[in-house]
Amino acid sequence: MHLKSLTLRGFKSFASATTLRFEPGITCVVGPNGSGKSNVVDALSWVMGEQGAKSLRGGKMEDVIFAGTSGRAPLGRAEVSLTIDNTDGALPIDYTEVTITRTMFRNGGSEYALNGNVCRLLDIQELLSDSGIGREMHVIVGQGQLDSVLHADPMGRRAFIEEAAGVLKHRKRKEKALRKLDAMQGNLNRVQDLVAELR
Ligand code: ATP
Repeated sequence: MHLKSLTLRGFKSFASATTLRFEPGITCVVGPNGSGKSNVVDALSWVMGEQGAKSLRGGKMEDVIFAGTSGRAPLGRAEVSLTIDNTDGALPIDYTEVTITRTMFRNGGSEYALNGNVCRLLDIQELLSDSGIGREMHVIVGQGQLDSVLHADPMGRRAFIEEAAGVLKHRKRKEKALRKLDAMQGNLNRVQDLVAELR
């Protein structure tokens, strides 16, 4: 599995549609300060479901939409598509090529798609978490992040290892199941109260 291409449209400084193609192996993005290198990395984590504006180096989520320049008006939407080569079947989906698309509108609406079909964020997260990539995986190592791994306390270090081992997905499912159980217990208690009242 490898990343094949990334297309940005209206994302941060990329007002016009821009496609980066990645060959297997190492890709270097070079350019002057402020030319948008980090914006490319932001686009990668955004399309994989990043929800935190701060992680994307912005104040609010809409900051990812092209805000305009002296020569060009702001845009109303940002869209990023990431195409992954899945010929080795690393992603648990029946396609040799998978394209994830995330779109955000300035009025707040947001949408995800898998190979052109609208889907939920959860579908993207589940698809990626099995492969070891995704929003909370540390495949994207930001500036200064190595320091935080090295200086993490034992619990923090454990979280990194769990992410790498793919435990996170199951932990999330467990938490969801426990919340459901909790709600169910509340309903059960209510039913028992009603039965007691009727006796
Ligand atoms: P450095 O080498 O200094 O780290 P860089 O190449 O990584 O720089 P980025 O941080 O990716 O540069 O890009 C910063 C540029 O992106 C700035 O010029 C900023 O104005 C522009 N930018 C960020 N968000 C938006 C937006 N929503 N609309 C328009 N331009 C944006």
